[in-house]
Amino acid sequence: MERLKIAVQKSGRLSENSKKLLEECGIKFSNGISVLKTTANNFPVEVLFLRDDDIPQYVEQQVADIGILGENMVYEKAKDVEVLEKLGFASCRLSLAIPKEDTYTGPAYFRNKKVATSYPRILGEYFLRNDISAEIEEISGSVEIAPGIGLAAGICDIVSSGSTLLTNGLKEVETILKSQAVIISSRNMSDDKKEILTRLLFRIRAVKNANENKYILLNAPESAVTEICRILPGMKSPTIVPLVEKGWCSLHSVVKEDEFWERIQQLKDAGAEGILVIPIEKMIL
Ligand code: ATP
Ligand code: MG
Repeated sequence: MERLKIAVQKSGRLSENSKKLLEECGIKFSNGISVLKTTANNFPVEVLFLRDDDIPQYVEQQVADIGILGENMVYEKAKDVEVLEKLGFASCRLSLAIPKEDTYTGPAYFRNKKVATSYPRILGEYFLRNDISAEIEEISGSVEIAPGIGLAAGICDIVSSGSTLLTNGLKEVETILKSQAVIISSRNMSDDKKEILTRLLFRIRAVKNANENKYILLNAPESAVTEICRILPGMKSPTIVPLVEKGWCSLHSVVKEDEFWERIQQLKDAGAEGILVIPIEKMIL
């Protein structure tokens, strides 16, 4: 029986969530996670633990069939792989930053300056698009110290909160790329492996939908139901259960978590009471 080989980051910002996703898909691994390769005992997959930089190449060469990594790395490596699905974690952006005391004049600021980055391809394309000739200094890590030590005038690096930039006396001036974790796959896969992949993607989508949505229960006067359904547009056809108290009902539905937070005051104003929001384990649409 063939096994689908999945490449995930060995250790770093993607690894915990990647392993968690597979576990939430009900996939159980027999041996520890300190090894470089592990086999699931209840699903035909094998997991390879690698550096994220190497994943695109390994998937292109079919050492692995699919991989989980950041879009930033996928576009930087530009290997012949297919992006199958966004996963909703490891959200970050690739941005340009300059010393915070400098005045930023737009992309032309970088003209004839040196910019340090681990993303020479993406940055090169950005400068080309904006018709800027700048020098790209490729370095593999600790990019944010480059301006401080006189190596470059600015940097292009991954930012999430921006606190690392701030600590290093830098400010973010342009966002070049928004990134999150994705699944990539090889373009050549046996029919057996494709079938396993389809089953895996089905589970991944069920987990993703569940994480993005919540089950909501609330009590309301019957007269308020129409208004409450209008406030929660995500609700297709809520379940309505009568309460013992005459004229009142309990309304059950599924709601996007973000939407819920935005609408809570409106719900209360419309007469909703005793609102419960409950996590969903799996959700199949
Ligand atoms: P490796 O040793 O595997 O090469 P690395 O040090 O290159 O790891 P990490 O810092 O673990 O990489 O980041 C892996 C990916 O996680 C990045 O390519 C990016 O997509 C995402 N990422 C990086 N920094 C953040 C952050 N601060 N917040 C969220 N996601 C991030
Ligand atoms: Mg890396």
